[in-house]
Amino acid sequence: MSDLSILACYAHPDDEQGISGTLRLCLDSGIRAGLLCATRGEVGEIADPSLATPETLGEVREKELRQAAQIIGISDLYFLDYRDSGMDGTPENKDPRAFVNADEHEAVGRIVQVIRDFKPTVIVTFDATGGYGHPDHLAIHRWTAQAFTAAGDPSCYPEAGPAFAPRRLFWSSFPRSVRKMMVEYFKEHNIHSVFSNLSPEKYGLPDEMITNRVNVKPYLSLKRRALGAHRTQLNPNGPFTKIPPEKWDEWRSVESFAFGMGEPLPPDADPGDLFAGLR
Ligand SMILES: [Zn+2]
Repeated sequence: MSDLSILACYAHPDDEQGISGTLRLCLDSGIRAGLLCATRGEVGEIADPSLATPETLGEVREKELRQAAQIIGISDLYFLDYRDSGMDGTPENKDPRAFVNADEHEAVGRIVQVIRDFKPTVIVTFDATGGYGHPDHLAIHRWTAQAFTAAGDPSCYPEAGPAFAPRRLFWSSFPRSVRKMMVEYFKEHNIHSVFSNLSPEKYGLPDEMITNRVNVKPYLSLKRRALGAHRTQLNPNGPFTKIPPEKWDEWRSVESFAFGMGEPLPPDADPGDLFAGLR
């Protein structure tokens, strides 16, 4: 193992699937990989009523995430123990335990604690659009960015242990051209999903902001297996089952990132290397 490490900070079990290939590629290169999940996705879908009830969903999804992490090869898994806030405009937004209602200082402190424990070189979280605007995605984006800075400052959260400064923060994202292509594909094939109504101009990042594209083609079958662990979220009649596997693989063979904060990428950096210049 090298001294390098990557920590993915997300809101729900299955958010990590967008970068599962990159996480495995890191592990295969001797880079430690950890995963932080703010909630247990308590108000997500229940694809099959035999799998969970609204009361047990959080517990079931924790198990699903543990299984997905095991498939990817991640053993360092951290929960922040907040509650899923639900989609924007739903009654769950008002639950006092919801991640979006967390005290900001406390929420950032919990992320700082994980950063100081795990000591990541690189951190990855959602971009400022949260992929599709989920309130928890926006919250984890904002608070991870604050924790990235606070973790290295000994005057912040002294109770969370000695300061540790991670070196680079990335936003995991979709280039807008890819979003556009997906929305057009959905339209053409009459596939209805929450994603088909999202304006590709509003979500993901403009292509020129994407700094890194990681080729994860060798990991497509691993990605499929890891996603398969999130059984409660895989509605057999859902929109994604209508996408032919080869199309799905095409979309999932590259994972895109935008440089966010910290040490800039060297000008000649390999776009597939999140650690360029940090070795
Ligand atoms: Zn999510």
